Amino acid sequence: MQMAGAITPVASSEFLDYVGKQSGQRIMDCYQCGKCSAGCPTAYDMDLTPRQMIRAIQLGLKEEALKSSTIWMCVSCQTCSVRCPVQIDIAKAIEAVRLLAVAEKAPAAEKNVKLYHQVFLKSVEFTGRLYEMGLSVAFNMLSRHPFTGMDILPTMLRKGKLALMPVFKGTAEVEAIFARIKR
Ligand code: SF4
Ligand code: SF4
Repeated sequence: MQMAGAITPVASSEFLDYVGKQSGQRIMDCYQCGKCSAGCPTAYDMDLTPRQMIRAIQLGLKEEALKSSTIWMCVSCQTCSVRCPVQIDIAKAIEAVRLLAVAEKAPAAEKNVKLYHQVFLKSVEFTGRLYEMGLSVAFNMLSRHPFTGMDILPTMLRKGKLALMPVFKGTAEVEAIFARIKR
Protein backbone atom coordinates (compact mmCIF):
# COMPACT_ATOMS: atom_id res chain seq x y z
CA MET A 1 0.00 0.00 0.00
CA GLN A 2 1.29 3.41 -0.84
CA MET A 3 0.49 6.22 1.59
CA ALA A 4 -1.55 9.12 0.19
CA GLY A 5 0.70 11.84 -1.15
CA ALA A 6 3.86 9.79 -0.60
CA ILE A 7 6.49 9.80 -3.31
CA THR A 8 8.12 6.45 -3.93
CA PRO A 9 11.86 6.90 -4.56
CA VAL A 10 13.11 5.59 -7.86
CA ALA A 11 15.98 3.15 -8.02
CA SER A 12 16.91 0.49 -10.45
CA SER A 13 19.04 -2.61 -10.44
CA GLU A 14 18.66 -6.12 -11.75
CA PHE A 15 18.68 -7.49 -8.20
CA LEU A 16 16.02 -5.06 -6.97
CA ASP A 17 13.81 -5.90 -9.96
CA TYR A 18 14.30 -9.61 -9.41
CA VAL A 19 13.39 -9.57 -5.72
CA GLY A 20 10.46 -7.25 -6.39
CA LYS A 21 9.07 -9.55 -9.07
CA GLN A 22 9.74 -12.83 -7.28
CA SER A 23 8.25 -11.67 -4.00
CA GLY A 24 5.58 -9.40 -5.44
CA GLN A 25 6.65 -6.66 -3.01
CA ARG A 26 7.18 -2.93 -3.52
CA ILE A 27 10.63 -2.86 -1.97
CA MET A 28 11.16 0.84 -2.71
CA ASP A 29 8.20 1.73 -0.46
CA CYS A 30 10.37 0.98 2.58
CA TYR A 31 11.33 4.17 4.39
CA GLN A 32 13.59 2.45 6.93
CA CYS A 33 11.46 2.90 10.04
CA GLY A 34 12.95 -0.25 11.61
CA LYS A 35 9.71 -1.73 12.94
CA CYS A 36 10.52 -5.00 11.17
CA SER A 37 13.89 -5.35 12.89
CA ALA A 38 12.49 -4.36 16.28
CA GLY A 39 10.05 -7.27 16.22
CA CYS A 40 12.23 -9.92 14.62
CA PRO A 41 12.96 -12.78 17.05
CA THR A 42 16.20 -13.77 15.33
CA ALA A 43 17.58 -10.34 14.37
CA TYR A 44 20.12 -10.58 17.21
CA ASP A 45 21.84 -13.36 15.26
CA MET A 46 21.69 -11.79 11.79
CA ASP A 47 24.49 -9.85 10.15
CA LEU A 48 21.92 -7.74 8.31
CA THR A 49 18.74 -6.96 10.23
CA PRO A 50 15.50 -7.21 8.22
CA ARG A 51 15.56 -3.42 7.76
CA GLN A 52 19.16 -3.56 6.51
CA MET A 53 18.29 -6.44 4.21
CA ILE A 54 15.54 -4.41 2.59
CA ARG A 55 17.96 -1.50 2.25
CA ALA A 56 20.54 -3.78 0.64
CA ILE A 57 17.91 -4.91 -1.87
CA GLN A 58 16.93 -1.29 -2.57
CA LEU A 59 20.58 -0.51 -3.27
CA GLY A 60 21.07 -3.55 -5.48
CA LEU A 61 23.67 -5.06 -3.15
CA LYS A 62 23.16 -8.59 -4.39
CA GLU A 63 26.42 -10.11 -3.19
CA GLU A 64 25.99 -8.76 0.35
CA ALA A 65 22.42 -10.04 0.49
CA LEU A 66 23.21 -13.50 -0.90
CA LYS A 67 26.11 -14.12 1.44
CA SER A 68 24.32 -12.77 4.53
CA SER A 69 23.37 -14.94 7.47
CA THR A 70 19.97 -13.23 7.45
CA ILE A 71 18.51 -15.38 4.70
CA TRP A 72 19.26 -18.46 6.78
CA MET A 73 18.47 -17.12 10.23
CA CYS A 74 15.02 -15.90 9.17
CA VAL A 75 12.44 -18.39 10.41
CA SER A 76 9.61 -16.98 8.28
CA CYS A 77 7.55 -16.12 11.33
CA GLN A 78 6.02 -13.12 9.49
CA THR A 79 6.34 -10.79 12.50
CA CYS A 80 8.18 -8.23 10.38
CA SER A 81 5.60 -8.47 7.60
CA VAL A 82 2.62 -7.78 9.83
CA ARG A 83 4.41 -4.87 11.52
CA CYS A 84 5.46 -3.05 8.36
CA PRO A 85 3.53 0.24 8.06
CA VAL A 86 3.73 0.15 4.25
CA GLN A 87 2.74 -3.51 4.10
CA ILE A 88 5.88 -4.95 2.62
CA ASP A 89 5.95 -8.71 3.18
CA ILE A 90 9.59 -8.72 4.27
CA ALA A 91 9.57 -12.46 4.92
CA LYS A 92 8.62 -13.02 1.29
CA ALA A 93 11.38 -10.71 0.08
CA ILE A 94 13.92 -12.56 2.22
CA GLU A 95 12.63 -15.86 0.87
CA ALA A 96 13.19 -14.61 -2.68
CA VAL A 97 16.80 -13.78 -1.79
CA ARG A 98 17.26 -17.19 -0.14
CA LEU A 99 15.94 -19.02 -3.21
CA LEU A 100 18.25 -17.00 -5.42
CA ALA A 101 21.20 -17.87 -3.17
CA VAL A 102 20.35 -21.56 -3.53
CA ALA A 103 19.87 -21.29 -7.30
CA GLU A 104 23.20 -19.49 -7.72
CA LYS A 105 24.95 -21.78 -5.22
CA ALA A 106 26.12 -18.80 -3.18
CA PRO A 107 28.27 -19.89 -0.24
CA ALA A 108 26.14 -19.81 2.92
CA ALA A 109 27.24 -17.60 5.78
CA GLU A 110 26.27 -20.22 8.34
CA LYS A 111 28.13 -23.53 8.32
CA ASN A 112 25.88 -26.52 7.57
CA VAL A 113 22.81 -24.31 7.39
CA LYS A 114 21.75 -25.68 4.02
CA LEU A 115 22.06 -29.19 5.38
CA TYR A 116 19.95 -28.20 8.38
CA HIS A 117 17.22 -26.81 6.11
CA GLN A 118 17.24 -29.96 3.99
CA VAL A 119 16.96 -32.26 7.02
CA PHE A 120 14.25 -30.04 8.53
CA LEU A 121 12.15 -30.15 5.36
CA LYS A 122 12.62 -33.91 4.98
CA SER A 123 11.39 -34.38 8.53
CA VAL A 124 8.27 -32.30 7.86
CA GLU A 125 7.67 -34.04 4.53
CA PHE A 126 8.01 -37.47 6.12
CA THR A 127 5.91 -37.05 9.26
CA GLY A 128 3.64 -34.13 8.34
CA ARG A 129 5.18 -32.13 11.19
CA LEU A 130 8.59 -31.63 12.72
CA TYR A 131 10.05 -34.70 14.37
CA GLU A 132 12.64 -33.01 16.55
CA MET A 133 14.46 -36.09 17.74
CA GLY A 134 14.88 -37.35 14.18
CA LEU A 135 16.02 -33.91 13.05
CA SER A 136 18.67 -33.68 15.78
CA VAL A 137 20.05 -37.16 15.19
CA ALA A 138 20.03 -36.89 11.38
CA PHE A 139 21.61 -33.44 11.39
CA ASN A 140 24.30 -34.43 13.87
CA MET A 141 25.21 -37.53 11.89
CA LEU A 142 25.25 -35.81 8.50
CA SER A 143 27.22 -32.81 9.80
CA ARG A 144 29.64 -35.21 11.50
CA HIS A 145 29.08 -33.86 14.99
CA PRO A 146 27.22 -36.85 16.43
CA PHE A 147 27.29 -35.72 20.06
CA THR A 148 26.69 -31.98 19.77
CA GLY A 149 23.84 -30.87 22.03
CA MET A 150 23.14 -34.43 23.13
CA ASP A 151 23.85 -33.60 26.79
CA ILE A 152 20.45 -31.93 27.16
CA LEU A 153 18.55 -34.84 25.65
CA PRO A 154 17.92 -36.80 28.89
CA THR A 155 16.50 -33.70 30.62
CA MET A 156 14.26 -32.84 27.67
CA LEU A 157 12.99 -36.41 27.45
CA ARG A 158 12.37 -36.56 31.19
CA LYS A 159 10.40 -33.31 31.12
CA GLY A 160 8.36 -34.42 28.13
CA LYS A 161 9.76 -31.67 25.88
CA LEU A 162 10.90 -34.13 23.25
CA ALA A 163 9.10 -37.16 21.81
CA LEU A 164 11.15 -40.29 21.30
CA MET A 165 9.00 -41.53 18.41
CA PRO A 166 7.55 -39.47 15.54
CA VAL A 167 3.88 -38.54 15.44
CA PHE A 168 2.42 -38.81 11.94
CA LYS A 169 -0.30 -36.29 11.27
CA GLY A 170 -1.63 -34.75 8.07
CA THR A 171 1.09 -36.47 6.03
CA ALA A 172 -1.05 -36.74 2.88
CA GLU A 173 -1.81 -33.02 2.88
CA VAL A 174 1.81 -32.09 3.57
CA GLU A 175 3.03 -34.50 0.87
CA ALA A 176 0.67 -32.83 -1.59
CA ILE A 177 2.09 -29.41 -0.68
CA PHE A 178 5.66 -30.64 -1.23
CA ALA A 179 4.68 -32.28 -4.53
CA ARG A 180 3.07 -29.02 -5.68
CA ILE A 181 6.15 -26.98 -4.77
CA LYS A 182 8.48 -29.45 -6.49
CA ARG A 183 6.38 -29.23 -9.66
S1 SF4 B 1 8.92 -2.10 8.72
FE1 SF4 B 1 8.63 -1.83 6.51
S2 SF4 B 1 9.03 0.35 6.14
FE2 SF4 B 1 9.84 -0.13 8.17
S3 SF4 B 1 12.01 -0.63 7.81
FE3 SF4 B 1 10.88 -2.55 7.76
S4 SF4 B 1 10.37 -2.88 5.58
FE4 SF4 B 1 10.94 -0.73 5.83
S1 SF4 C 1 9.97 -13.47 9.09
FE1 SF4 C 1 12.18 -13.63 9.34
S2 SF4 C 1 12.94 -11.53 9.24
FE2 SF4 C 1 10.73 -11.44 9.61
S3 SF4 C 1 10.52 -11.28 11.84
FE3 SF4 C 1 10.38 -13.45 11.31
S4 SF4 C 1 12.47 -14.22 11.49
FE4 SF4 C 1 12.60 -11.99 11.40
